[in-house]
Formats: sequence, C-alpha cells, structure tokens
Amino acid sequence: MPNASLLKEFESLIGKENVLTSEADRQCYSYDATPHAPVVPELVLRPTRVEELGPLIKRCYSVGFHIVVRGSGTNLSGGVVPDNRETVVILTNALNRILEINTEDCYAVVEPGVVTARFAEEVRKAGLFYPPDPSSMSVSTLGGNVAENAGGLRGLKYGVTKDYLLGLDFYDAEGQLIKTGSRTVKCATGYNLAGLLTGSEGTIGVMSRLIMRLVPPPKAAQAMKATFASTVAAAEAVAGIIAAHIVPCTLEFLDNVTLNRIEDFKGIGLPRDAAAMLLVEVDGHPAQVKEEAEAVCEVLRQCGGDVQMAGDAKERDAVWEARRLALPSLARMRPTCILEDATVPRSKLPALMTAIDGIASRYRLELGVFGHAGDGNMHPTFMCDKRDKDEMERVESAIAELFEQTIALGGTLSGEHGTGITKSRWLELEVGEATLAFCRKMRRAFDPKGLFNSSKIIGV
Ligand SMILES: Cc1cc2nc3c(=O)[nH]c(=O)nc-3n(C[C@H](O)[C@H](O)[C@H](O)COP(=O)(O)OP(=O)(O)OC[C@H]3O[C@@H](n4cnc5c(N)ncnc54)[C@H](O)[C@@H]3O)c2cc1C
Repeated sequence: MPNASLLKEFESLIGKENVLTSEADRQCYSYDATPHAPVVPELVLRPTRVEELGPLIKRCYSVGFHIVVRGSGTNLSGGVVPDNRETVVILTNALNRILEINTEDCYAVVEPGVVTARFAEEVRKAGLFYPPDPSSMSVSTLGGNVAENAGGLRGLKYGVTKDYLLGLDFYDAEGQLIKTGSRTVKCATGYNLAGLLTGSEGTIGVMSRLIMRLVPPPKAAQAMKATFASTVAAAEAVAGIIAAHIVPCTLEFLDNVTLNRIEDFKGIGLPRDAAAMLLVEVDGHPAQVKEEAEAVCEVLRQCGGDVQMAGDAKERDAVWEARRLALPSLARMRPTCILEDATVPRSKLPALMTAIDGIASRYRLELGVFGHAGDGNMHPTFMCDKRDKDEMERVESAIAELFEQTIALGGTLSGEHGTGITKSRWLELEVGEATLAFCRKMRRAFDPKGLFNSSKIIGV
C-alpha cells in the first residue's frame, strides 16, 4: 500500500472517494474476461475529469508503480490483469462524457470511458451511424475499443474501430498531453500517432479524448439465414460471396455444436441437425439491397445452402438472436471457456475449418466454432475446466497447433481481441525476432521504465 502522504496526494487530486484502497475494492479489478489468474493491484484510482490523468500518471510513474488503464475489463487477451502487486489500476469509467456530436461534419468527440452502445444510440438519435458493434458493446468502452482495435458484426462492409478514428489525445509517461489527428476527414499532418495508439493495449499512453468519424445510416437492410450439410460447404459459400464481389454488412457462421448449445440454452428453433449455419445481412439503398440479397441467395444455394429470408423486423431480429446467444450458450457448458480468434484470408476458410475439426478430434476436446466468417475471423471456443490439468494441457497444445496452422494459411493470431498476455508468446511465430526487437526499442522510447501495462503484447 502506498504511504499515507502519497495517498493524501492522490486524494487531493481526485477526491478521497475515488482512491480505492480496500482489499474488496482492489479484488474487483484483479481480473478481466479471460481465465488468467487474478492479480490484486496495490491501488485503484478513478479520475472523474480527463485533466486529472496527467498529474496522476506523472506521479505514479515517478514513484515506479506499474500502470494498467482499465475501461470495462471485457477484453479477451488478459489486457487489464494487473502486471504485479505493485500495479496501480486507473479506471476510465467516470470519464464518460460525449462532448460533441457534429451532424454537419459527421464526427463526434468523446471521453474514453463512454460505453460503446450508449455512444451508438446517441449517434443514432442524432440521425447518424457509428458502425463498429463488438458483441460486448453494451459494456465495453470506446477507449478499450480503440486500444484493442475492436471489430464487430459489421466489420466486413464497414471496417473496425480504427476506420472510425480521426484523432485522439493521450497522456504519456511524463503526464504530458499529446494531441494527434483532427476533426477533418483527411489529415496528413505529422506522425500518425492515432495509428500508433490504435491496438496499443495501454502500453504507450493513456487516451483521454477521441474524435470518431460518423456516417449516414443505411436506408434499408435484408437479413437471411442458410443451413448447410457440412462446415466446409458453408465456408465455401463465404468464399463464394467474397469472390462474387458482393459485400454484405454482416456474414456470420455458427457450427453444429454452437447451434445445439443455443437450443439447449434458449430453444429458439434452430435446426439441431444442420452442420453449420450462415447469417447474412446486406444493407444500403433499397434497390441495391434487393439486388445484393438475390445475388447472395444464389451463391448460398449453389453451395448447398437451405436459405430463409427474414420477412420483417421481427424475423430479422430472430436471425441475429442466434448470433447474440452463441458465446453465452457455449460459455455456460463448462467451468472454463477459452475463446480464440484465428483469422485467415477468406479463401482459406474451408482449410481453416478442416484444420479446426482435425485439432478438436486429435486432442479430444469439446469446442464450438462461430465467428465473423466474412472477415475470415473464427472464434473456436474451447469448453473446458481449468482445474483439470490433463485437459488444460491438451487445450494448450490444441491452441498452439491452431495458431501454427492459421499462420501457415497466411492468417494472423488475432483478428480483433488483441495480443495481451494470451498471445504474446506466439507473436514471434507471426512477425519474427527482428520485428519484436524493433517493437521493444520503440516501446522503451515511450516508456523507459517499462511501467505501462508491462507484461502485455511483447513485455519489456
Ligand atoms: C461477451 C464478449 C463479447 C465480445 N465481443 C467482441 C467483439 O465482437 N469484437 C471485439 O473486437 N471484441 C469483443 N470482445 C472483447 C472486448 O469487449 C473488446 O476488446 C473491447 O474493446 C474491450 O473494451 P473495454 O472497455 O472492456 O476495455 P478493457 O478490457 O478495460 O481494456 C482493454 C485494453 O485497452 C486498454 N485501454 C482501455 N482504456 C484505455 C485508454 N483510455 N487509454 C489507453 N489504453 C486503454 C487497456 O489497458 C487494455 O489493454 C468481447 C468480449 C466479451 C466479454
């Protein structure tokens, strides 16, 4: 515990009620959405004004505390598990003001702790559209989304968080305010520090303000679902849609295990005997939607899909309910749920699906697969029990093989969940030693004492 005079300093900076020292409070910030072993931090600080971040960071850094900045803690890579017991967790959940929604120039300025769904809803009420929609959006923050470069169901057509980031401010290790980007659609001024902070997972600085791009909402949408007799046929349909140069806004995959676990959980009428299901939505101008829906339908049928179009808003919602239930339905099956994030070029999806089937049977593991098939981004989800040593060793080996095969297919370790602690040991396999050495040098330049989320991504 910091000494009394340091605690007093923090209290005078942010108010006594925002300096959390009790064991119970600190326990709450010892873990995130991954099964990593919790680490109780030394102290939790909850600034309520962004200007407080600079002096807080400067003081923590000079004392030598490890600093973990935390949005809502929903990340899936161990990103906010404290590095050690000398860690100070800085919460952003009280930095949650939407400062501006500009409907004329189509941008918004927000603080980092704004919850994604609240932001999307305020933007919608203003007549505009913020497309990135991670499944966690009712809880996750925009700061966490930028720091993980979060994706979502609409990534295929609309891109991911980075595609909506125009600029940002952040505090560096010395507590200095650094500004980058602009409210303009284009900005080629200086280094692209917003790009550097995107996906930086709290290892470079603490974001205090974000400028997000907004777009006009689509005028119409058409959802549909198709069932297949094999996962490879479904994967071929995805590759076929992409190869036909149609860009649905959403193209999602659920395998047989996932369909059955959803039925066990909620019984929403999904076919238990289908090997796989694709959920598709096209959006845009009504005429374009009609044409694209027909073209998608044609490809799905050519690949053996049994297609059902959503007739109205209720049926459209039913299509997406299946997708929303995928992770909760799998997660409730066993004590531990490990959600992976393998991503390959779309043409390689059939090969990835074959590889996953082989891995599951070789290591005798129970896993369900769902994901953003249109992005080539699959979430093989291992249902296991971390108390079972033998099973966890098999899971570990299966994940190692999954990554090796993903990279061999020209893919990447993470499509959207980031590196954190979970994937850092595999990074060299994908990028090589020279790249890791370069990143370590770069990181040291910004954080010479190695205190910003120090065990994450590459470690320091
Ligand atoms: C059920 C579920 C579904 C999910 N679905 C998706 C999905 O569809 N797509 C997807 O991409 N992800 C998904 N995720 C993962 C997760 O929600 C995202 O990674 C999200 O962006 C994390 O936001 P957060 O506010 O919880 O950040 P946290 O978990 O609190 O933090 C994430 C990282 O961001 C850093 N960080 C947070 N705020 C700042 C800041 N102000 N400055 C600098 N660094 C900061 C942290 O240090 C940490 O490294 C899902 C997670 C769950 C549990």
